[in-house]
Amino acid sequence: MKKKKSNLSELMQFAGKHKYLTYSSWVLSVISAALALVPFVYVFFIIKEVIEVAPDFAKATHVVFNGWMAVAFAIMSIIVYFGALMCSHLSAFRIAGNMRKKTMKHISELPLGFIGEAGSGKVRRIVNESSRATETFLAHQLPDMAGAIATPVGMIIMLFLFDWRFGLVSLVPVILGFLCMFKMAGPKMAEDMKKYNSALEEMNNQAVEYVRGVPVVKTFGQTVHSFKKFQGSIDNYYKFCVSYCKKCRGPMLWFTTLINSAFAFLIALALILAGGEAITQGVLLNFIFYVIFTPIITTSLTKVMYMSENGMIVADALERIHSILDLKPLPEANSGELPEDNSVEFENVSFRYSNAQTDALKEVSFKVGAGKTVAFVGPSGGGKTTVAGLISRFWDVRDGAVKIGGVNVKDIRHEDLMNIVSYVFQDSRLLKTSIFENVRLGCPNASEVEVINALHKAQCDDIIAKLPDGIKTVIGTKGVYLSGGEQQRIAIARVILKDAPIIVLDEATAFADPENEALVQKAFAELLRDKTVIMIAHRLTTVKNADKIFVLKDGKIEDAGTHDALVHSGSLYAKMWKDYQTSISWKVSAKNAEVKMKGGAK
Ligand code: ADP
Repeated sequence: MKKKKSNLSELMQFAGKHKYLTYSSWVLSVISAALALVPFVYVFFIIKEVIEVAPDFAKATHVVFNGWMAVAFAIMSIIVYFGALMCSHLSAFRIAGNMRKKTMKHISELPLGFIGEAGSGKVRRIVNESSRATETFLAHQLPDMAGAIATPVGMIIMLFLFDWRFGLVSLVPVILGFLCMFKMAGPKMAEDMKKYNSALEEMNNQAVEYVRGVPVVKTFGQTVHSFKKFQGSIDNYYKFCVSYCKKCRGPMLWFTTLINSAFAFLIALALILAGGEAITQGVLLNFIFYVIFTPIITTSLTKVMYMSENGMIVADALERIHSILDLKPLPEANSGELPEDNSVEFENVSFRYSNAQTDALKEVSFKVGAGKTVAFVGPSGGGKTTVAGLISRFWDVRDGAVKIGGVNVKDIRHEDLMNIVSYVFQDSRLLKTSIFENVRLGCPNASEVEVINALHKAQCDDIIAKLPDGIKTVIGTKGVYLSGGEQQRIAIARVILKDAPIIVLDEATAFADPENEALVQKAFAELLRDKTVIMIAHRLTTVKNADKIFVLKDGKIEDAGTHDALVHSGSLYAKMWKDYQTSISWKVSAKNAEVKMKGGAK
């Protein structure tokens, strides 16, 4: 079996050439911890001198020197610690940055369908939060741990240097405290930590779903209880946290009590050593030394206690990062063939999503000639979006082949495929940058004139005219608001600029206002001119003029033909068309009624 690497060596893989920074931070932290112990010895010297010369305190001539030495060592310790933190921060930012870069690069090589399946929110959380967790670990926790381990070692040496009997006794509560801590930690704790993170993640995901669903909840006068899953995830999180806290309560109580109680053990020993007589000066001095020295045990052990917890957080973060890094990219066609023309063909294609029970497409075959427009219609869940995704190779088919210009998409290099096919999404996203840069994403070398031309063809002139800085206006800045239709037109300009010969178009389901709809349709008309078009139609108005319409139901092509032929065949399409006509007449009569009511109110 492959030996599992430690968290640290995994993290160091991301450090590249800068591993020495992390190691330097540990060395400096250990030196700083050792320096921090020295002032206690000087304080002890002061007390010793004062007790020895009492009551003639004028004889205590070394007090000032010893005081300054204590201060000097304390300052040195702080300066060295500062150096340790500088090194650890430099390395932590590098490692977290490299981790983000590597994960993002890997994501860009994964099948495009990955983001859709995993959920962009979840991917963002994994990339950002996991690398942030490792950043805190490397920048603060690791050097502190090096110091926290060095302190007890130095302490033990010093404890035995003065009076081994007091040294031994002050270690008793430490050992007992450790035993309590191990009872609490251990493998069970790692398991609980994982459960905690999963419960938290589930609750966050459900909260997002809930917020998305708020309009529905409000419209139907429901409460949070109607979101059973959200409520369930909160209950689950609550139950888990309460039982986890209860489990830790006992051991934690004993741990805190014990590591703070070293003085009680020391007093007991001092009394035993005195044996009912007056305490000797030597014993008293040693006793005082240990009383001032042992509180460091508390601080350093508290840090050590959190060590295993921090380790678990990092292990969990690394596991999440690996859940992405371990995913295999689609095999790349190295030699890379180029399609002969712009036709698209499905040959007996069957496909199933990795997490699904049934096939989304079952032996689907069709051919779209170069320059033709076809539309896919059919009931929701029929497989329309899947067909569109397979053309752009969001996933690979299980059986059969998807071909462009006679060449299997698996044999076309990814970059070439992206240049040949443009996918227009229903909710095209714009980035938080200028309109100019947003459009230029379609063709990074395009000039300003070409961008303006594309915006003009996509009917965006009115949008640009109303924006404060024209095409240089940054989207998302204060006061810049674009409606859904406006955003879509800008996204269409991007695709017009890219000028790919094959367009896969996921047509929007709803438009806020008819004016925008008319402009978007006009923009589409510009975009689709002379292209091979595969349109996923959620409404039937736009498909009437397609060269061929395919009706997809339950992953199979039920029917195919022109609009007229299909309407007259009395098939599923004819029924859909009839329903659609009825819905339009409803809309029209509703509008008429509205007009009449307004007229009556005058
Ligand atoms: P349409 O676009 O016609 O509404 P889809 O192509 O989206 O249909 O879906 C076809 C089938 O595949 C449906 O049964 C749907 O539930 C399933 N499906 C779609 N996306 C996924 C996914 N990411 N994971 C699992 N199943 C999916």
